[in-house]
Order: sequence, then structure tokens, then C-alpha cells
Amino acid sequence: MNIKNPILAAVLVLASIPPSLQGQSALNRSVRTAENMEPAIPRPAQDKAVAEKLAALEKKTGKKPNIVWLLVDDMGFGDPGCYGGGKAIGADTPHMDRLAMEGLRLTSCYSQNTCTPTRSAMLTGRLPVRTGLTRPILAGDTLTVNPWEGETSLPQILGESGYSTLLVGKWHIGSAKGMRPHEVWFDEYYGYYGAAKETSQAVDPARYPDLALDEEKLASYEKMGEDHSLVHGFKSGKLDEISVVKNTEDMARADMVLTEFSVKKIKELANAGKPFFLEHAFMKVHTDNYAHPDHTGMSASKYPYKDALCEVDMEIGMIMKALEEAGVLENTFVFVTSDNGPQMDGWPDAGYTPFRGAKGTTWEGGVRVPGIAYWKGMIKPGRVSDDVFDLMDLFNTAVHLAGADVKLPKDRYLDGVDQTSFLLHDEGLGKRECVFFWYKSDLMAVRMREYKEHVKVILPHSTFMHIDMATVQDTATAPWLFNLYIDPKEELPVGPRMHASLASLGAEMGAHGASFKKYPPKKVGL
Ligand code: CA
Repeated sequence: MNIKNPILAAVLVLASIPPSLQGQSALNRSVRTAENMEPAIPRPAQDKAVAEKLAALEKKTGKKPNIVWLLVDDMGFGDPGCYGGGKAIGADTPHMDRLAMEGLRLTSCYSQNTCTPTRSAMLTGRLPVRTGLTRPILAGDTLTVNPWEGETSLPQILGESGYSTLLVGKWHIGSAKGMRPHEVWFDEYYGYYGAAKETSQAVDPARYPDLALDEEKLASYEKMGEDHSLVHGFKSGKLDEISVVKNTEDMARADMVLTEFSVKKIKELANAGKPFFLEHAFMKVHTDNYAHPDHTGMSASKYPYKDALCEVDMEIGMIMKALEEAGVLENTFVFVTSDNGPQMDGWPDAGYTPFRGAKGTTWEGGVRVPGIAYWKGMIKPGRVSDDVFDLMDLFNTAVHLAGADVKLPKDRYLDGVDQTSFLLHDEGLGKRECVFFWYKSDLMAVRMREYKEHVKVILPHSTFMHIDMATVQDTATAPWLFNLYIDPKEELPVGPRMHASLASLGAEMGAHGASFKKYPPKKVGL
């Protein structure tokens, strides 16, 4: 056995927990239906009712539903008005608020703690520790293995099930040949391979004078292979470079260009006779934000981050209007979310979270994100649920909506749970019992019901420096157990008063760790 692999060594330690603790605890309602599938809480009546509802719709429309993900980059849980932000913090978000009011607002929706891990998990249904995509791919990174080898992407399953598949915007899961969206089964890709900051470093002399104004350093940076172009790729291999970001104004305009493309494509896709999957991934509100020249100062706050948030909200409205005008609103599942918590290291170019920690950590501030599910006529307006949802569940849910469950891979572990009936039933209850939080190759914490237990924590050594100056630390004698309902900021452990729950959450981590024995993690050089 390869115990040199630190990930495997760590899970073997977990797996060495006595067998009595390896199974699920008494509090756990979920059932494992296949060895390679995450256990789910059985809800047979709810599943049946939703299956009938979906079948009736398909009879009416004659096809499977469209799926649209609107993924904002680094938006904080507390940013949209419907999550307590909006006007109260100087950036009104009427479009997101309306979708929440007319749909389902999830209050315990979880991402991974950074960009690449969340984006890859959503498209594979698998934890980053399993795919090897455990942290953002940055300029200068060379992966030793194409992370997509041995993975089945969502656009592959949907494409094989009769869907058109399109990704517009930020990718961030590898820009080398063979790793790009149109090479991993998206029919079409229109966007930027990397994160905003990878480009702004090269074009903003006000923020980065030591790089942007130094020709020698700039030449070295460009040699690292970061691509600053807007590309238009097709599964056929055709690849056009549309434009290159040369200055901060180009960056400021980037999202509107992407949105106008999605709006145009929605009309085409709606008329094509096939169902479609559109992932629209905004570049904003990831630092560095530059207000669009036509919308500078559109937020009450006037700060670039807030202007960017208002712009993204306006663009969500444009995309929704396009769906409505194309006549497909009643046959389209829409999900609005963020890929991680706010990046406080960039403050004041950062979002807001009411929780502890921020992007880069497994505290709630890093991983609890807005999650709004909207489907006219299929999701009852005004629903709110605190049942846990992991963004990986969108993978299984999309596969189920496409009627493609039989295409789910059986030779690797799938961490996502099909939450279709939770989202679509008028009184839907969640089907996921536990959310596991990893930081790179460390299992850090687990949430079950209102309890969250940490065995490792990330602590900043300067205010807001959750990425640039933080350490991973083991907890000492006891794990840190919090009751999120009485202590959402994770400040006051309830361990001494909660022995039974403490033991059961340890068992959940043990059972989770044991899944790596048969399905070992992949290493891709990150
Ligand atoms: Ca992000």
C-alpha cells in the first residue's frame, strides 16, 4: 500500500478508527444504495410526486428541461439582499432577490473553499481530493496529469443524452491543451481560462506597478503561460481568439461581453429543438473589480466591488429576460450561486459574509454561499430551506433531470447527491445528511444537521488574511464542535455539553475516510 501518498496516509488514519465508529451514527438518516455513491436520505413519497410532476411537464414540452447555472465568482453569503445584504450594504440586488422570492432560497448551501475545487466538483460530482483539483490553478502551475483523465464531466453525460452544452465565462480548471472546456465535452466555450486577478496583475499599473510597469518582470510573467484572451472554442477543435485584455477598461467590460453572448445564444439554443445546459460563470466579483464604464457608481456604495455586484445582478436579470423572451422559462431549471466565500484578503474589493472566516478556509465564511433555485411553475415561490445542499449535488441533480442516471460512473466514488425532489417538491426536504469539508488533502470538518465539528482549522495571523497569512492547525484534546443554530459564527464550542453528537460526528468522518480505501485519491501535481 502506498503510504507515501499523504492523502492516503491521512485517510488510513481515519479508517483506523474502530469499526464500531466507521458506520454511520444513530443520528444519520441516510442510506447507501451503492458502494460508490454518497448515502442519501430516502424520501420515496417526495421522489414519486416529483417524478410525476416532471413527467407531466415533459409530456407538455416534449423534451427534457434546460439547465442554467449562474455562477458568480467569490460573492459572499451576505451580499445579495435576499441574504441580508443588498441595500443594507450599499449594493442593491433586485434580480437575485426576485428569483429568491419566486423560487427556493437555500440557507445552508455549501461550496468548496476556493474556485477550481468548486468548479471541478460541480462538473464531476466528486470532491477535489478525489479528482486532484485541490486548489486553484495559478500562473506557472504545470499539472503532471490531465485532471480530466479518468473523469466523466457533466457535459459529457448531458451531451450523450441529447443536450447542447455551453460554458460562457470563467473556466479555471486548466488552460493547457486537453483540459479546456471544449476539450472536456462542452459543445462550445466562450470565455477566459483563468481568474480575473491573473490578468489584472499584468494590466493594472496602479495596483501592481512593480509588475505592470517593469518590462522584464512582465515578460517573465507572460512566459508562465497565463492566457489573457477571450476565446471561442468548439468541441470540433475549432478555436478562435476573439480579443486580448490589454487594460483595466477591457477587464471592466468583460462581463457585459459575456452576458451579451449568453443572451444571444439562449435565443439560438431555445429554437434548436434540443434541451440545453448553460453554465454562465461570471468573471466578477473576483478581485480585482473595475466598474463597467457605463455603470460606474451604479451602487449606493460606489466602491468597485459593489458596482461589480450590482452589474452582475443586472446581468442575471438580462439572462432571465432572455430565457423569458425565448419562451423557455417554464422548462428551465435555474440555479444562482457563488463558487466560494468572499476573498477578504482583497478588502475592500471583497464581498460580505456574516460568518467566521472567508474564502480559503473551511469555516462557514469560506464555504456557505447563496443558493437560489428557480423554475417557473415547478418550484413553489417563496420557499426557504436550511436543509444542507452541497454544490456537487447539482451534478447528480442535472443528470437526473436529463433522465441519465444510468450514465453515472460506477468505477469511482461520487460525492454528489441527487436533490431533484428536495428542490422541486412544494414541501421538499433535503436528501443529503452530511457535508464534508476538505482543505487540499486534509479532512477538516463535517456538518450534520445544525452541528459542525472541526478536527483541523485554518487560522489567519492578520485581520482578513485568510489566504495570504494563515495556517492549518490541528485541534488539540477535543475536536471543536459548534451548534450553528445558536452559534452561527463558530465561536463557542459546545463539546463538553454535547458528548453524544461529538461521538457521532467523529463516526461520520471515519465512515467518509473509509470510502478512500477502495477509491483512492488522484494526484495531478497541485
Ligand atoms: Ca472563486
